[in-house]
Amino acid sequence: MLTNASLNFKDYIRVIEDFPTPGISFKDITTLLKDGQAYRAAIQELRSMVEKYQIDLIAGPEARGFVIGAPLALELGVGFVPVRKSGKLPGETISASYSLEYGSDQLAMHKDAIVPGQRVLIADDLLATGGTIATVVELVQKLGGVIVGAAFLIELEELQGRKKFEGIEVHSLVTY
Ligand code: AMP
Repeated sequence: MLTNASLNFKDYIRVIEDFPTPGISFKDITTLLKDGQAYRAAIQELRSMVEKYQIDLIAGPEARGFVIGAPLALELGVGFVPVRKSGKLPGETISASYSLEYGSDQLAMHKDAIVPGQRVLIADDLLATGGTIATVVELVQKLGGVIVGAAFLIELEELQGRKKFEGIEVHSLVTY
């Protein structure tokens, strides 16, 4: 039986060039997610990186932020708050615009998702330009949440996304 330490997570991530547009080197995590052992090991590894924080909630943007953030919340025994594209959440929301490595969009959170002062860890599959997460930071802070850190499966280092939110500790399992 393999231990977490002997797993090279990069071996489970499929890289597809020129998707969804020419020039983008897409990091496809579906190949990791379908392997139960690798998926669980990745979440447990992320937990070991962030369990030093006092965390009340994890916030993750749709859709791939859910498949990382929700199991991580279960591992830590804390709540999960979905950050969704505008128009998807049924209650009263606040929203903000963001830009991607490719394209732009708007994210929203329920106004009552966070009690002011709650300590929030942000989680997503991948940190690219940091536009998405900077927007999640903006929304969480608008609701009075205190960001304790951010955790990613993958970080694309050359895009320097972490510079968009200096002062927030960033943890990533795999870097390209
Ligand atoms: P960004 O806002 O630029 O940091 O982009 C982050 C989001 O876009 C992540 O949630 C990813 O799901 C997606 N994304 C951006 N670039 C890539 C990439 N090269 N491969 C896979 N997903 C990406």
